[in-house]
Amino acid sequence: MIDKSERTDGTFSRPDFEWDEKSDQYICPEGHALKQFRRNYSDPNRTRDTGGSKKYRALKATCQACPSKEIRCPKADAPYVTREPHEEAREFARECRRTKTCKVSRDKRKKVEMLFAHLKRILGLTRLRLRGPNGAKDEFLLAAIAQNLRKLAKLRPRCAMQEAAA
Ligand code: SF4
Repeated sequence: MIDKSERTDGTFSRPDFEWDEKSDQYICPEGHALKQFRRNYSDPNRTRDTGGSKKYRALKATCQACPSKEIRCPKADAPYVTREPHEEAREFARECRRTKTCKVSRDKRKKVEMLFAHLKRILGLTRLRLRGPNGAKDEFLLAAIAQNLRKLAKLRPRCAMQEAAA
């Protein structure tokens, strides 16, 4: 998932705005509410949930008097936060991304992907020649052996040089 909600320019990021489920609003770091609707519409269709993303806006007048406006919320007169459908799941994914386990898993996946890319692009294994699951298993086993031998061969001169230096 590509997460662009974190700001690096010193302005407030999405996690700085606290979600208040009960009141259906966000609370900004200065303690002011960002709401989707501020009026009581007589027509219920105006506030109907269409299932799409929702925009929660701050009040322009409040923001103009805010001491953080110039530096932390400089872009819009009334900053807003969008809330997508299934935002809880998205938030859970964002939290998972910040954990050490996720970073370790990502690095491991990258390593595996690199090996497959190497098999395909350097060793020319673009398609399997043997048929059936057993054929595929044998072919991958042989390819992995070739890959490991190639790695060992690359390590060899380094070991020899280290022995000579010792
Ligand atoms: S500028 Fe508005 S949204 Fe931003 S912190 Fe101040 S009051 Fe909150």
